[in-house]
Amino acid sequence: IPVDPFDLVIFGGTGDLAKRKILPGLYRRFLAGQIPSDSAIIGAARADMDDAGFRDLARAAIVEFVAADRIDDTVLAAFIERLSYVSIDAQGSGGWSALKKKMRKNTVRAFYFSVAPSLFGDLAERLHGHGIADEDSRIVVEKPFGRDLASARELNAVLARHFAEGQIYRIDHYLGKETVQNLMAVRFANILFEPLWKSEYVDHVQITVAETVGVDGRGAYYDKSGAMRDMVQNHMMQLLCLIAMEPPYHFDPDAVRDEKLKVIRALDPVLPEDIVRGQYLAGSGQGGYRDHAGDAASRTESYIALKVNISNWRWKGTPFYLRTGKRLRARTSEIAITFREPPHSIFDDAEGWRENVLVIRLQPNEGMNLMVMIKEPGPGGMRLTQVPLDMSFATVLGEEGEDIPDAYERLIMDVIRGNQTLFMRGDEVEAAWAWTDPIIEGWEKRGDRPRGYDPGSSGPEDALMLMHRDGRRWREIR
Ligand code: NAD
Repeated sequence: IPVDPFDLVIFGGTGDLAKRKILPGLYRRFLAGQIPSDSAIIGAARADMDDAGFRDLARAAIVEFVAADRIDDTVLAAFIERLSYVSIDAQGSGGWSALKKKMRKNTVRAFYFSVAPSLFGDLAERLHGHGIADEDSRIVVEKPFGRDLASARELNAVLARHFAEGQIYRIDHYLGKETVQNLMAVRFANILFEPLWKSEYVDHVQITVAETVGVDGRGAYYDKSGAMRDMVQNHMMQLLCLIAMEPPYHFDPDAVRDEKLKVIRALDPVLPEDIVRGQYLAGSGQGGYRDHAGDAASRTESYIALKVNISNWRWKGTPFYLRTGKRLRARTSEIAITFREPPHSIFDDAEGWRENVLVIRLQPNEGMNLMVMIKEPGPGGMRLTQVPLDMSFATVLGEEGEDIPDAYERLIMDVIRGNQTLFMRGDEVEAAWAWTDPIIEGWEKRGDRPRGYDPGSSGPEDALMLMHRDGRRWREIR
């Protein structure tokens, strides 16, 4: 379904994010016929560049980051024609009237702040000061949204000076993933799961985001944040919320976000013994985390595993285990919901018995698997075996099926449609920091050092213990 025609200004239009995600994503939606041809995309950045220069940059980025079989020369040329550029310093006064002239009346206006958060205030102020933004305009902001509660509050306050909450789209691209949205469909459009979706039937939940890459190249930047700030506070928290939240009364932005907020507020503080932090060591001819961070004494974690309890009626007694790290064995993201044992086994040979697990894979091969027990086929008597009920999207869509849109493209289209359901609200972000801050302060105060782990492993040994001592096991990272 096409969106309305729009004027989208990308501040930071020449930057890495614009080149890798925003411009390729817009091209793919244009190719899919979702962007009307009278829409305009305006790059705005500090670099001194003309329209032709920006179009060349965009074309090169699209050719580099979009799959070759999706490049259609005629469509690409038509898309590139929609692009123009203004040279603007977020902190300066030049360029704003040129930008204002480009903006059309009666067209959706969106401003993507793909620049450092320290410039958000300057941009917001100038967009208003020059009469470029109005009460229907939308702004899109990127992570990191603060580095603690105080800075997140400050950012919210800076934006709130010129924009209402209903105009602010805080991107967490995990929420744009197909499987993540499908999780809500599975939970709330089926009667099958909801009755079991509580501590009475769910033993525990595991959320894993494992990467094979290290921080090489951006080590100095990463070293100021670490896995807790970079992954847990935002992406993993959002996943946890979607699993744990109560059914919203409607699939509506505030109804959904109200329920997520309640989950965050119900999270227990995490005890020091329920956290394991790690740093990858050197190996396979590559430097370790500290080499990449450029600080031989760095205490920033490139890996974290933790156990958190949710103190509410539904989840009391069902721990959520979260882990994420870099330079691990495989690149995989999944949520696994492990159900409890049946109350009584009627089978003599229960040897083959395994728990039911609902596995939601975010990558690779987005999809879901429900592990169920069946009788092992054949004449061997009643022997049990576990098989997956496979719901991979590739199968659903068929081999010739439409490409699954990338998270960014879907979210940008939601901005144009004015739908905030998949964007974080200011109070949600603050609540997440309010939970995160004491955890980080705790290990800083205690002077905890992360444990080393081998590259290509599944993390520090101690992380295994985090589950073993509860009589549980992490799922294999593969
Ligand atoms: P980048 O350094 O590659 O690009 C920054 C852009 O901002 C450039 O276009 C630059 O010209 C422009 N810019 C810098 N100072 C400016 C000023 N004073 N006035 C106007 N324009 C100015 O950065 P990036 O990687 O594209 O990241 C942009 C934002 O997105 C950052 O907030 C970053 O944290 C966030 N982000 C990036 C990624 C990513 O994959 N690159 C992922 C998530 C979030």
